[in-house]
Amino acid sequence: DVFKLTLDTPTYKGTVSCKTGLYINGEWVKPVEGGKIDVMNPAKGQVITTVSHGSEKDVDIAVKAAQKAYKTSWGLQAPGSARGQYLTKLADLLERDLLEFAALETLNTGKPFSVAREDMFASAAILRYYGGWADKIQGKTIETNETKFAYTRHEPYGVIGQIIPWNVPLLMFAMKIGPALATGNTIVMKPSEMTPLTALKFGDLATEAGLPPGVLNIVNGYGQTVGNAIAHHPDIRKIAFTGSTLTGRKIQEASAKSNLKVVSLELGGKSPSIIFDDANLEQTIKWVSLGIFRNMGQVCFAGTRIFVQEGIYDAFIKGFTEAARVLATQTGDPFGEKTAHGSQISKTQFDRVMSYIESGKSAGAKVEIGGERHGNEGYFIKPTIFTNVKPDMKIVREEIFGPVASIIKFKAEEEVIEMANDTSYGLACGVFTENSSRAVRVAHALEAGTAWVNCYTTVEISVPFGGFKESGIGRELGEYALELYTQVKSVHVNI
Ligand code: NAD
Repeated sequence: DVFKLTLDTPTYKGTVSCKTGLYINGEWVKPVEGGKIDVMNPAKGQVITTVSHGSEKDVDIAVKAAQKAYKTSWGLQAPGSARGQYLTKLADLLERDLLEFAALETLNTGKPFSVAREDMFASAAILRYYGGWADKIQGKTIETNETKFAYTRHEPYGVIGQIIPWNVPLLMFAMKIGPALATGNTIVMKPSEMTPLTALKFGDLATEAGLPPGVLNIVNGYGQTVGNAIAHHPDIRKIAFTGSTLTGRKIQEASAKSNLKVVSLELGGKSPSIIFDDANLEQTIKWVSLGIFRNMGQVCFAGTRIFVQEGIYDAFIKGFTEAARVLATQTGDPFGEKTAHGSQISKTQFDRVMSYIESGKSAGAKVEIGGERHGNEGYFIKPTIFTNVKPDMKIVREEIFGPVASIIKFKAEEEVIEMANDTSYGLACGVFTENSSRAVRVAHALEAGTAWVNCYTTVEISVPFGGFKESGIGRELGEYALELYTQVKSVHVNI
């Protein structure tokens, strides 16, 4: 079955389409068990189409296909250079169809078309980057004594399970499949049941690129069924998960209860941005706004807790509120030419974010700007800034995953480091100061996998990304991601 729609919007005119079945063993199939699931356009609050969702049985079929592909046409059978060429080809094809992919992503997520386009460019760049690594995965030779030596091989795991969320659907998909395929693994991928369209469209690119059947399988479905089956499957040797900390715990439990599969987790956050008196005000406001409002706050590393030193406090609030006011004027139709702020992903998320806003209000925090929905259609929430915030409020302690910033005033460096680290999360942080010694000192003192100094949100493909504390296990991106998808074998040789 095929979904097809013609769009005539200010930023995209043309058709978007994708298959709606499960992509298993290089073919589009109907689920053995399972059924149909509605896919929404959150900007309109309307169903766009229905797609298949699978079951435990479908996961099992996909795992068998992936096992066969691993043994016969991928894994140790396909040289790195060949795997690299497939990834490069996939990047080329994605770039060829980039605008259609971006339009499909916008339709399914409500994010501005300009943002979706950037996500698609980044997705293609990631595939190309890992295509470049595929023939550069090398071990070491270790001399042990005069008659013996040993060498290491970085071998793939075999069949990998990958489960991803809805906030940056195709980008997350590319971040997962790029390094896994480059290192020789085969994949059973579950996109978010809410945002499967671009992942499904990618299935056709895999076929067009000539990727051997079974190397990449895409099984759409719910977390409790398809996700759970992947997490428990005895023939999946490794699982890579991105999503909430709550689900991350379930993935680890499933691994412990099944076959001790290796688990890597990219989870939630409650990241601090710290602004010192000597920060460059204009630049800081630009980065801090992006940090919290980009993608409508639906970003794991969003800078949600903003600590501002007392000397710059008033000027910062004034400028930051102005930035949010401008963004509010650019809110609306995701396909609009000037739109920079779109819809939240779903009614559930909309209600959740609004309930956090209400909890902030009733706890005594002051709404500087926003704090309400935008328009009557879809799930738009205005960029929201809270001041008068106390460190024990719910809006400061829990991940909101929406466009809601909480601002806390501070006096001294030691005090702010303590407050910033007072969270179970440790994904990212931002430090804004013109004093380079302080910048480095504070960046090192904060408990986070990524520290941005005088910038935010700049995720580079070549730089590892991942969480401290309950924000995750393992590092994606860069050369580090190759370690996620390989296991080291030591070969001892007696000459
Ligand atoms: P979620 O945990 O609800 O779902 C993520 C994925 O897991 C989905 O595909 C879902 O179907 C699946 N899932 C749900 N229950 C499952 C189960 N019992 N077993 C197996 N799979 C299951 O998260 P979400 O709401 O889709 O995404 C938002 C969360 O993701 C936020 O907490 C955010 O911080 C996090 N996130 C983290 C990163 C990162 O890189 N650290 C990136 C993006 C999003």
